[in-house]
Amino acid sequence: MRSRAVVMLSLAMLVWMAARAQDQDFSKVQIKVTKVAGNIYMLEGAGGNIAASVGEDGIVIVDDQYAPLADKIQTALKDLGITNKPVRFVINTHYHGDHTGGNEPFANTGSTVIAQDNVRKRLESGGTAGNGGSLKMEAKPAAKGALPIITFEHDVTVHLNGEDIRALHFPAGHTDGDAVIFFPKNNVVHMGDDFVRYGFPFIDVASGGSVQGMIAATEKATAQLPPDVKVIPGHGALSNLDDVRAYTQMLKETSAAVQKAIDQHKTVEQMKQEKVLEPWKKWSGDFIDSDKFIETLYNSLTRTKGEFVKHN
Ligand SMILES: [Zn+2]
Repeated sequence: MRSRAVVMLSLAMLVWMAARAQDQDFSKVQIKVTKVAGNIYMLEGAGGNIAASVGEDGIVIVDDQYAPLADKIQTALKDLGITNKPVRFVINTHYHGDHTGGNEPFANTGSTVIAQDNVRKRLESGGTAGNGGSLKMEAKPAAKGALPIITFEHDVTVHLNGEDIRALHFPAGHTDGDAVIFFPKNNVVHMGDDFVRYGFPFIDVASGGSVQGMIAATEKATAQLPPDVKVIPGHGALSNLDDVRAYTQMLKETSAAVQKAIDQHKTVEQMKQEKVLEPWKKWSGDFIDSDKFIETLYNSLTRTKGEFVKHN
């Protein structure tokens, strides 16, 4: 019992807790680098996956994990032996601390941080993240030096290393500030936490996220991608479009199951007791189990109906 509780706690922290970053021991974390395609690499350590474009013009990274890992990330990029030029740009996929924790150290060493408008707003204000139910986490306001210097509403393109690296906003998915990052020349995409591999996803309903927006994001992103694109998920192993489609399918089916129960005027407690997500239990994880995902879907489906911005 105790060890399971410890595992759950450490997973929850690993997945995104920024406020707790100082309590976590990063000294043992090693940065694993995988070549994805052409000059694009994926870096794994603790927190969200990093995509890196490494080439003659320098380096662009997507997300930066936690502040204590910034030096290790810099070293791993240098050790590729491709360029001595610095990380010129950091693009954040969303505001959570396991994706933006390194913003300040990277900015201090000369990188320019780019993110969607709502990422900067939420980093600046801090607030409560969560699924609108039992999962709640406090995020402290970020230091000024951690705030993105360049923000965009809809999309932005960074022209570097011979590629048009495009960040496109998908509203109201994992949060209200999500960007999916396309590397069209190399046929790679970084999906941020709109697509993850740890089971049922965390949807930050408290920060403007919704399952409807997450489905819209994965469907719209996949519709504009070639079939053999390499997909970097927010968390977990390198993936392909079939993995994204299976995930989208699960989001749609579980949403329909909970919507049906809502239409039958069932409460969240009844849905948990009746195990309405039992057919999808292989997706139930230590961070987001079936009960937490029922809460997520219920809150998402009852609170945000028809409210989101549609501009993609
Ligand atoms: Zn996240």
